[in-house]
Amino acid sequence: MTEPTSDISLIPLAQKMEPKTGRLRVPSNLRIRVEGGSTEQLHPTVSLLGQWLSQKDASIQWQATHEEAEIQLVLQPGPSSEAYRLEIRPDGVILSGSETGWVRGVAALTVLLEEGGWPCCVIEDAPRFSWRGMHLDVCRHFYPVDRIKRLLDLIALHRMNTFHWHLTDDQGWRLASKAYPALTQVSAWRDRDGQAYGGYYTAEDVAEVLRYAQQRHIEVVPEIEMPGHAMAALAAFPELSCHGGPFEVANTCGIFDDVYCAGKPATVEFLETILGEVVELFPGRYVHIGGDECPKTRWKDCPDCQAQMKTQRLQNEDQLQSWLVSRMGDFLQAKGKRMLGWDEILEGGLP
Ligand SMILES: [Zn+2]
Repeated sequence: MTEPTSDISLIPLAQKMEPKTGRLRVPSNLRIRVEGGSTEQLHPTVSLLGQWLSQKDASIQWQATHEEAEIQLVLQPGPSSEAYRLEIRPDGVILSGSETGWVRGVAALTVLLEEGGWPCCVIEDAPRFSWRGMHLDVCRHFYPVDRIKRLLDLIALHRMNTFHWHLTDDQGWRLASKAYPALTQVSAWRDRDGQAYGGYYTAEDVAEVLRYAQQRHIEVVPEIEMPGHAMAALAAFPELSCHGGPFEVANTCGIFDDVYCAGKPATVEFLETILGEVVELFPGRYVHIGGDECPKTRWKDCPDCQAQMKTQRLQNEDQLQSWLVSRMGDFLQAKGKRMLGWDEILEGGLP
């Protein structure tokens, strides 16, 4: 009797992985059937499996069937939406879970495929934490949509559920705005050895990324940085700073003293307009507003910031940042979104 295959491995580890004896060879024509659901529900998952397997040079022909099949998808919600149970036997695969569970399960199935077929095993899995994601900064380095899609495949194959998309920073503004076209004309580009370096995403690009993510059951969280990391925006709109500039889109890394002026009504209007556009573009639950690494040097010397602190009865500049953050939080909440930020937004206290 052959020993169970013991070298099955997944990243992250599945909650329970039990190697079994034997191997399932991949037939050239894979028959797939669905239990407890409709054939229409089967299509998105199977199409994903086909795409992923073809990336591993194991292109499959598949057909939906009501009879014997090598892969059986059982629609059976587990203890959480991402939970799945995957059993690979010498005569076939049984994958049960919700439709999200199926996607996580076929990700595992893709990763487990090796030359000669699938090692037999039983896997029971669900993420330990509800947020299992990856963050990508597209400001320091710009990633075209095709590369984002490749990354979304890798995220999905690692059974992650969240893509945190860092869209604005000192070194570039990457989101096209209907209200402020200068953000793509000016803020999206920086000078690199005499050449313009950068790029941006149109509304169509965003929709394409969201569609691709949704097929993989990944939530996209957009991030618009404020009140620091604003050099790219200030290069186009110096009037939103404390002392008026002029500025250039940053060419180096670091923390810059020039940030959005928290005392000027135009800043609040700009940020709320941008967040309004973000809410229109991104249907997800969360919007991230950054909030890290904001020096208060300019605010201390700015008559507008100091006047705002008096009007709002704030004791110091940290509280001024908290006031601005709370105002954005209220704005997002009124639009049905939850605001997220880096830990430093807590420094001046939050209600
Ligand atoms: Zn100011």
